[in-house]
Amino acid sequence: MTPLAARHAEDAVPIAPRSDGAEDGAVVIGAGPNGLAAAVTLARAGVKVLVLEAEERIGGACRHAEATVPGVTHDLGSAVHPLGAGSPAFRRWPLEAYGLRWVHPPLPAAHPLPDGPAGRLERSLDATAEGLGADGEAWRFLSGPTTRGFDEVAATVLGPLLRWPSAPLRVARFGARAWAPATWSGATLRTQAGRALWAGMAAHASSPLSALGTSAIALMLVAAGQRVGWPFPEGGSGRITLALRRYLERLSGEVRTGAPVPHLDRLPPARAVLCTTTPEAFRRIAAGRLPAGYDRALARYRPGEAVVKLDLAVDGGLPWRDEACASAGTVHLGGRAEEIAAAEAAVASGRIPDRPYVLVAQPGRFDRSRCAGSVEPIWAYAHLPRALAHDPEAVDALAARIVASLEAAAPGCGARTVARRVAGPTVLAGENRNLAGGDIAAGATSLTQLLARPVARRLPYRTPVPGVYLAGASTPPGPGVHGMAGVWAARTALRDRFGIAVPVDRL
Ligand SMILES: Cc1cc2nc3c(=O)[nH]c(=O)nc-3n(C[C@H](O)[C@H](O)[C@H](O)COP(=O)(O)OP(=O)(O)OC[C@H]3O[C@@H](n4cnc5c(N)ncnc54)[C@H](O)[C@@H]3O)c2cc1C
Repeated sequence: MTPLAARHAEDAVPIAPRSDGAEDGAVVIGAGPNGLAAAVTLARAGVKVLVLEAEERIGGACRHAEATVPGVTHDLGSAVHPLGAGSPAFRRWPLEAYGLRWVHPPLPAAHPLPDGPAGRLERSLDATAEGLGADGEAWRFLSGPTTRGFDEVAATVLGPLLRWPSAPLRVARFGARAWAPATWSGATLRTQAGRALWAGMAAHASSPLSALGTSAIALMLVAAGQRVGWPFPEGGSGRITLALRRYLERLSGEVRTGAPVPHLDRLPPARAVLCTTTPEAFRRIAAGRLPAGYDRALARYRPGEAVVKLDLAVDGGLPWRDEACASAGTVHLGGRAEEIAAAEAAVASGRIPDRPYVLVAQPGRFDRSRCAGSVEPIWAYAHLPRALAHDPEAVDALAARIVASLEAAAPGCGARTVARRVAGPTVLAGENRNLAGGDIAAGATSLTQLLARPVARRLPYRTPVPGVYLAGASTPPGPGVHGMAGVWAARTALRDRFGIAVPVDRL
């Protein structure tokens, strides 16, 4: 039999039901943060759940491994977790009892500059504002309302956006700033440090900073930092998904790895199916069942840009030029606000920036359990135009520019690097099929696609196939390790398929 024929034969084999034979429960496709959070939500309501994960390991884009040298633990996907620490569900669930412990660096984030002090995101609004000196008042005006109302804003924004908010005034204040391009909202800042700090936050969106809605990303990240911090899970990011799995199993949920789902037809009987794949993969999994209009709407969903990620094992950690970076968990590189904006505009126009915007995390500095003696894991990535995702020369070129940026900000970094791993789009997608094309955000995070994700519906988790729901990061609230897409999809399925109404504040 040819390999393709063997694959098709394998695809035709039905997937076995839960080991206890239950057929009136739910099946969840994918054991990343959203799939596991969906499963926990269902199991907490008493529904029997079976989670099917294609890879041999759970975690999706939230897991870790010794990817360079023995004893050095690298986060393969997410590293920094403001939205994990701020997730209404993760805060309510007893995840600490299942091994999740947050490690807080003294400073959530720093943004070094070539010719002045770094911008510093502190763990309180007052401390950040004070550190920004002349920009203190403007920073308070920009981020104060969202920081003070963070819990209420997160409860709304980390869910479907096309609904009436629980705290309308707070959310209206957030919305009044959030819709704007970051270049507009940041124009009230005057110092290099303030402007660069804001631009670096907005650039997480992987969109030009002149795009509508980029302020929303900056505001949420800043407010989360000032309210709950930007912590790392002790031991590696996979401790988040492991805690979810353990909690799920305690609630009698079942997780099966090495179980790719090729098509809905292969699934065991279940009252609800929740799928955390990309919309494109869902079109294949549900082929033949989707009405043409919905299928076309999914086909129109735009992917995000790609990334190139570097994992470095660095003896003694990064020797930062700017002192502030040594106490920061995350460091944004790329220079002044205008340079960050230019770098992201270059990516959007299909070019590799000369000086990329680079996100760097140094969890080992604050969590020695991830280090081998003095050797620390360093995590870094930069955005790559999606058109170049499969061009090995482009991947190498961007990797070299990331290394150059690190060397400029931390001279001697290269000499201290004992091992290096480059993960371009092909490597990332090889580890997790949801990262096809190197898109780590499960679709572009334009304002339209944040509001209508992946289609314009009040509850976009529902699909036209009865009992089948979308639950991954391509549904609201979008990318990030917060589990809230899974939670909201599960809530929708509980009401539709099991007649169970769970109040939002009990999810
Ligand atoms: C390099 C990188 C850096 C990131 N940095 C951060 C960060 O610092 N902070 C942050 O909050 N977020 C970060 N993110 C984003 C965050 O990790 C994702 O948004 C989040 O993991 C999405 O969760 P998910 O469950 O929807 O999807 P995933 O985590 O991608 O999980 C989906 C799972 O579904 C499985 N699957 C797919 N298809 C099938 C199938 N047909 N059958 C069975 N299983 C299937 C996959 O194998 C995978 O395990 C990062 C992501 C990456 C890749």
